[in-house]
Amino acid sequence: MRFPLFDTHTHFDVPDFDHDRNQLAHQAKAVGVERLILIGFTESRFSDLMKIQHELNQLQDAPISYLAPGLHPFYIEQHLPAHLERLEQILKQQSCIAIGEIGLDTFLPQHKQADIYQKQKQYFIHQLNLAKQYDKPVLLHIRKAHADVLHILKHQHFKLGGIAHAFSGGIEEAKAFIQLGFKLGITGQITNPNAKKLHRVITEFGLEHLVLETDCPDMTPLCCQESTEYRTRNTPVNLPFVLQSLATSLGMNEETVAAKVWENSLNALKLVQ
Ligand SMILES: [Zn+2]
Repeated sequence: MRFPLFDTHTHFDVPDFDHDRNQLAHQAKAVGVERLILIGFTESRFSDLMKIQHELNQLQDAPISYLAPGLHPFYIEQHLPAHLERLEQILKQQSCIAIGEIGLDTFLPQHKQADIYQKQKQYFIHQLNLAKQYDKPVLLHIRKAHADVLHILKHQHFKLGGIAHAFSGGIEEAKAFIQLGFKLGITGQITNPNAKKLHRVITEFGLEHLVLETDCPDMTPLCCQESTEYRTRNTPVNLPFVLQSLATSLGMNEETVAAKVWENSLNALKLVQ
C-alpha cells in the first residue's frame, strides 16, 4: 500500500545526492512522498538550496519541494551577521514555507562555552524575530537544550509554532512544546526498539501532534542500514519505513496514521491543503 506522505525535514540538497537526486525524487514519489522540505543550515548552502528546490520542482512525477532557509546552531562558528541579512533577503524574495533549522545544540563540549552558547542564543532569537516579521513557522533543532529553547520561545512570545525536528525530549518537554503549538518530528529513530524515551512519548501523546521526517542523509531507519561499520545514506524513499514503524508502535493501521500525520504537517506549516 502507498499513502500520501510529507517528508517534513530533509537535506536532500546536499552533495551526497548530486549524482542520483532526480532518480531518488521519482522513487520517493512512487512510494508516496508527495511533498518534502529542503532545510537550511549554513549561508554557504543557501544558493544551492534554492537552485535545487527549483530543479526538483521542474521534474514530473516528483514530490513538491518547499524551502526553509535558516542558520543551524551546530554550525554556530561559521555564522556571521551578514548571513542573517542574506536570510532576510531570501525571506523577502522567495516563497519560503518556514525558517529552519534553528535552535540550540550543546552536544559538543565547546558549544557549552559561555561565549559560543550566547552566540547560539543570539542567532536563535534573531531568527525567531525574522519568523515573526515574515509570519513563518520555525523548524527547531534542539540537542541537550530543551529547557533553554522553551524559555526563549516563551520569552519571545513566539506563537507561530512549527516542528520540533527529530524530537529527543521526554514527556514533560513534549508537553511543553505541544502547548506552544509545535508538532514533534518522528525520524527513523522510531525503528530502533532501544529508543525507549521516544517510544514513551509516542505512547503518551498518541498521534495528535506528530509529523514524519527522514532527516536524510542522516537517521537511516534500522531496516535500511547496510552495515554497522559505516553510515548508510538515508533518502526520502525510506519515509514509508518511518510510517510503518510509527503505526506498529501505536498499534494502528498505516492508513489512519498516514492521514493524521499528513493533516498535522499541513497544520504545522500553515498550508491550506
Ligand atoms: Zn536537519
